[in-house]
Amino acid sequence: MGLSLNEIKRYSRQLVLQDMGAREQNRLKDAKVAVTGAGGLGCPVSTYLSLAGVGRIDLFDMDNVELSNFNRQFLYTPEDVGKPKVEVAAKRLQAVNPEIEVNAINKMITYDNAFDLFKGYDAVIDGTDNFPVRYAVNDACAVNKTPLFHGAVLMYEGRVTSIFPGETSCFRCAFPHPPPAGSIPTCREAGVFGAMTGIVGSIQSLEAIRYLAGLEVSLKDTLLIINADYSIYDKIKLKRRSDCTACGETFIPQPVDYSCEVVEG
Ligand SMILES: [Zn+2]
Repeated sequence: MGLSLNEIKRYSRQLVLQDMGAREQNRLKDAKVAVTGAGGLGCPVSTYLSLAGVGRIDLFDMDNVELSNFNRQFLYTPEDVGKPKVEVAAKRLQAVNPEIEVNAINKMITYDNAFDLFKGYDAVIDGTDNFPVRYAVNDACAVNKTPLFHGAVLMYEGRVTSIFPGETSCFRCAFPHPPPAGSIPTCREAGVFGAMTGIVGSIQSLEAIRYLAGLEVSLKDTLLIINADYSIYDKIKLKRRSDCTACGETFIPQPVDYSCEVVEG
């Protein structure tokens, strides 16, 4: 399917970019992605994916809008308090870009349902806020061989990596064991710097959009750590593990069975 005149005008500033053109824009238009979490990361991620023209975006979250979201979650207004985040976010994104399809999926992600929920996507962009769901999404993407764009934020620090199952380190390769329940403070307890969620979510979406358009991505086998205290951007090399229970030779289901909220979603 080609691009309409409206689409050519809407995307003109990216169509003229070096390495971008009608072919790349059509790839974005044909892409189907899942965004897990419609919070601090989900807001910038889903905003930039939709503005770029990713053809179908499915938003997963089960929370309602709260006043404490407003230092970072810019898709909501005070009138939305109490409403399901995914429904408000999908409506807003759809209004800004009617050329694409945005779906609201108000559902809890668990280790049991993740493998089916995330089948058939070209990419998953993870903005969840707890380790059980993060490992469930990682394992589901590893088994389904779906590229996963990981991001996490707590306080003044953010982390991003791009995962290509079968080719690069997955989240479980980098962190085989989740931290003990309660060992890391929640964003509710420790706080989260709003602009950091914007930085991390923007980098996740940038990587995902480049991949979906057919361009190179830069955070394969690399964990980017951003510290806002000192404006430090560190890159740590990651290595795929052949004994990884998620992406290694033998898949072994390993649900994380605590519900410690650790990072902002
Ligand atoms: Zn792995």
